[in-house]
Amino acid sequence: MNKIKFNIKQLVRQNVQGLKPYSSARDEYVSDGSTMIFLDANENPYENGVNRYPDPQQRSLKTVLADQKEVAVENILLGNGSDEVLDLLFRAFCEPKVDNVITLPPTYGMYKVLANINNINEKEVLLTRDFEPNIQEILKAIDLNTKIIFLCSPNNPTGNSFSVENITKILETFNGLVVIDEAYIDFSSKESWLKKINKYPNLIVTQTLSKAYGLAGIRLGVCYGSKDVISVLNKIKAPYNVNELTQQRALERVLNQDQVDLEVSKILKERNNLINIISNIPFISTIYQSDANFILVKVDDADMRYKQLLEKGIVIRNRSTQPLCENTLRFTVGTPAENKRLIEILKQL
Ligand SMILES: *Cc1c(COP(=O)(O)O)cnc(C)c1O
Repeated sequence: MNKIKFNIKQLVRQNVQGLKPYSSARDEYVSDGSTMIFLDANENPYENGVNRYPDPQQRSLKTVLADQKEVAVENILLGNGSDEVLDLLFRAFCEPKVDNVITLPPTYGMYKVLANINNINEKEVLLTRDFEPNIQEILKAIDLNTKIIFLCSPNNPTGNSFSVENITKILETFNGLVVIDEAYIDFSSKESWLKKINKYPNLIVTQTLSKAYGLAGIRLGVCYGSKDVISVLNKIKAPYNVNELTQQRALERVLNQDQVDLEVSKILKERNNLINIISNIPFISTIYQSDANFILVKVDDADMRYKQLLEKGIVIRNRSTQPLCENTLRFTVGTPAENKRLIEILKQL
């Protein structure tokens, strides 16, 4: 049962509510494909492939995503990486010095950084020992000014997905926005929460082309949410926030789903292989379950092991400063050759 009283008008910042967005040339006249002479945007008319402003609504790309994910185009907002999308959420819904958000460490560091940049109080409710949301403590932390709860599932750096029961409980009791960051969903066997955006008006799902899709360099983040939420974000985004080259490369890639699937399956095979082999490394005491393309492990002395690997030319992430992550290291799954080299070195140490 959905008990929440969700009211978008109460959530949006007042200045955003009344805002009249910038209307760009490409917003005012949308090409219908017929041959027109465009003298409206002060562009250089000589063609070089990118002399024209990009589509501010990224229609071609959104149409393909909408079709693949079985949502409406109006449920999608695209950004310059998910980091931009997350920043837009702060700017649309969180009043500086007044509102707060809840994050669940150990988790992705950007939520806190963005809260700080936007001068929003960030309340931290630690995950439980088995890296699940602590529902009791989260409910206690919520107050009238709590606008967003950030859930990262599969979670970075722990690698696990949160249980359906826990996420459902939060969605069904919190009147603000619940952001589920699914940056690693393509590596997970669990179902995406995307299917639920029409059921829960407070649900926002973010995904990215930076991980499984292999396009970290082009910066393309995707936000799925109710039409009301998306239209608020659309009002405040920069008109041309996703550039033409990014739109083209992203479109090419999402249309080549077979190649993405092939690479993901190779990475998963490598991940499982790595887990099997490193379970025999004496200084690794725990290998945490992973639904992502990385593995978190607990070792005897993370600082020392990190340095030893660096000396051998392998860069990993030391996550020991994060709560509940003492002496942990995070390895991204590489190519078979890279993983082979990693294993050789781990065995030597
Ligand atoms: C890598 C990552 C992202 C990706 O951010 P982009 O800005 O889209 O590259 C988002 N969330 C989490 C948890 C990540 O680990």
